[in-house]
Amino acid sequence: MKAPVQEVADDILAPEFRQPVKTLGEALDVLGWEHIDKPICCGSEVTIRSLLGSAYFAQCRTCKKFVLDVTGPKFEGGSVRFMDGDKVDLETDRRWIAGVEPKNCPAS
Ligand SMILES: [Zn+2]
Repeated sequence: MKAPVQEVADDILAPEFRQPVKTLGEALDVLGWEHIDKPICCGSEVTIRSLLGSAYFAQCRTCKKFVLDVTGPKFEGGSVRFMDGDKVDLETDRRWIAGVEPKNCPAS
């Protein structure tokens, strides 16, 4: 029995970021960002973090709005940890959240 991404998201996210997981398109819509590789926000391209060619985090440097793939890589003490596809149902596009970063970046 694999855990749904929603369950994992609720587990790893701080309470203020908990929300129904979204497709990337829905998450971009929440922020009012265009559905393109590098959306423009506050007059400049958002910063994208990706690994192995797939983006898992994008953020505006100015207003700190972000989208995050909750199933994306986690960086811990110099190593990268991926979500275990045997334990989590990764066969879904609903894996993104949108928000505005406060002090603790949820992707760090
Ligand atoms: Zn912005």
